[in-house]
Amino acid sequence: MDARLADDLARMPELLENVRARAAGILAGLGDRPAAVPPVPSSPDPLPASGIGLDEALAEFAERWEPGFSGSAGPRYLGFVTGGATPASVAGDWLTGVLDQNAGPGVDSSASDLERETITWLRELFGVGEEHSGSFVSGATMSNTVGLALAREWLGERQGISIADTGVSALGKITVLSGTPHSTIYKALSILGIGRDSLRTVPTLPGREAVDVDALASALDELSGPAIVVANAGTVNTTDFDDLEAIAALRERHPFWLHVDAAFGGFAALSPAHAHLVAGLTLADSICVDLHKWLNVPYDSAIQLTRRRDLQVRIFQNAAAYIGLPTADPDFVHLTPESSRRLRALPAWLTLRAYGREGHRSIVEHNIAHAQRLGDAIAASPHWRLLAPVRLNVVCFTLDKPTKEALDKITHDLTASGTTFLTPTVYAGTPALRAAFSNWRTTDADVERIAKEINATPYKDRE
Ligand SMILES: *Cc1c(COP(=O)(O)O)cnc(C)c1O
Repeated sequence: MDARLADDLARMPELLENVRARAAGILAGLGDRPAAVPPVPSSPDPLPASGIGLDEALAEFAERWEPGFSGSAGPRYLGFVTGGATPASVAGDWLTGVLDQNAGPGVDSSASDLERETITWLRELFGVGEEHSGSFVSGATMSNTVGLALAREWLGERQGISIADTGVSALGKITVLSGTPHSTIYKALSILGIGRDSLRTVPTLPGREAVDVDALASALDELSGPAIVVANAGTVNTTDFDDLEAIAALRERHPFWLHVDAAFGGFAALSPAHAHLVAGLTLADSICVDLHKWLNVPYDSAIQLTRRRDLQVRIFQNAAAYIGLPTADPDFVHLTPESSRRLRALPAWLTLRAYGREGHRSIVEHNIAHAQRLGDAIAASPHWRLLAPVRLNVVCFTLDKPTKEALDKITHDLTASGTTFLTPTVYAGTPALRAAFSNWRTTDADVERIAKEINATPYKDRE
């Protein structure tokens, strides 16, 4: 054994104690860390020929890299829908590395059974029925990709062919219909050989991002064959929701595969006052929910759910002499894009066991209240106006007289203040900002501080 490795092995408990102390220090200072730290250009150091051991490597990381890391896990980071990491989920992530199980082949440990239990819990949390099975994937992009791969396979089944065997060209032109699809739907279509151009956007309701179901019905009526419909449960700009029950009912008139992208909107199911937004989620053929967003587990974690595990095995099976054929209850190696895979379920399992449905419901409800509070402050400001009602956890707003330049400067100034981090967007042709609440640590005092900073920032131009 290399001398450095042997040394670290001998000192493992002490070394890990140092890591623990450092982690505790980082977490204690999370609220003081700037919400975002714009990266400065750097050039890579050469590969070290001989090592310096964990202690010194850690010290170097702390000096060279850590100061450039943001407070994205902290309470006032409102960019994207990032979420943080609950204590139990951090512990789960650490232990995933410590135990280093391969939750793919499922033959050498019960890690896959823990994943199955976690999927069952999450299915229940989101109000999805027992006909759905699922797996952990790295994020919503991969979950959407798996869902659309299933859709593609289903289109083949309708024609009596296996796309997994013959290839996507056997299908001819594929039509994908959606109101306000997330950008990753296009990415998934590109990966799958269906093609970005196969997506036809369907008109939305007036002033909304939710699809006009009548327009969707007309678009389906015009088609000669089956299609794929991507319904959106939580759009990124205004957190709008398609009417899932009404969309699912259209399958009586026209055959289509219904995929629902509920990456963060799925968490509406946890709040009794908002659960109606995702009514009918269980009717989908495939569902995407991100966990590294609103479940507050570390990156990277999401689930995919489907009613058609048989199609999933057809696509993802990885039969090899050393793995074996898929059984009636297939191992994850036969169900997921990855073959070897980390036990992503453990952080989710631990946080659900530690805080339960009620703990996670409280995170969601608090974040919704935070968004409402910020929305009220924005609406009351002379500089700003809301571009949409605050439906869930995202506030979409703009200047009274919006220009991209002015908003870019404000985004820059807000980031430089260290108080918060917001992302720019364009909504219905209007440049805007969006503030997304999804962190378990955020308090009302944080929201006050953010609102104050946002309201003061347009004045800074004039000083
Ligand atoms: C975030 C998001 C995605 C993509 O998720 P990743 O975790 O970044 O892969 C897809 N759809 C929606 C609606 C999202 O909000």
